[in-house]
Amino acid sequence: MSDSPSAAAAQRKALVLFSGGQDSTTCLAWALERYASVETLAFDYGQRHRIELECRHRVRDELIRRFPAWAAKLGDDHLLDLSLLGRLSDTALTSERAIELQANGLPNTFVPGRNLLFLTFAATLAYRRSATVLVGGMCETDYSGYPDCRDNTLKALQVALSLGLDGPMTVETPLMFIDKAATWRLSEQLGGQALVQLIVEHTHTCYLGERGALHAWGHGCGHCPACALRAKGHSAYLAAQGKEPRGGSA
Ligand code: ZN
Repeated sequence: MSDSPSAAAAQRKALVLFSGGQDSTTCLAWALERYASVETLAFDYGQRHRIELECRHRVRDELIRRFPAWAAKLGDDHLLDLSLLGRLSDTALTSERAIELQANGLPNTFVPGRNLLFLTFAATLAYRRSATVLVGGMCETDYSGYPDCRDNTLKALQVALSLGLDGPMTVETPLMFIDKAATWRLSEQLGGQALVQLIVEHTHTCYLGERGALHAWGHGCGHCPACALRAKGHSAYLAAQGKEPRGGSA
């Protein structure tokens, strides 16, 4: 993965796993800067807060409004019903394990191997849409995370998908080795303060589904692991620029 889009990349079509959060919005901007055309995909499996699905549309609309060059490349949006995953997760709820929030802001009842399933469904859709690149916000850095988010897992999946589809299916994860502060910096590099501000105002990260007041780092409860991680990363991003966080908590 190079920093400047290659001529070869500029010919390709990408499908971005786009939840409407900070990470996937940064990934979407990264893809729009790089590829000839870009479509977006989200999964509805019954656990997602509706607010997140609403934010997806707002973020797409704002990207179109504020970034005309990207708007020209942004194609269809897809929502895949994976209610089966919700049912698998419900099965876990009936087991002996205590339900608790993990450091990454997701409940421990979440479906193991979820990202393998997501990317495999995404590849099936991508194939039908003539896209040869999948882009996801998986990251090894901020928390130990799930083994299905690790770089080697996804490289192995890329090989399996490309073999199974008998054609290139590249899995790109631009955030894999960077922390949240660097994710904020990446969004600034891609779209300047206009993109940083769009992400602050319109993306959704809060695990509890709260919008609430607008903090310097965005909307959210400010206390859940997802909000805490986002706020901490934003403070570090500002501190590295010699700026103080503007108001808000954390
Ligand atoms: Zn929160």
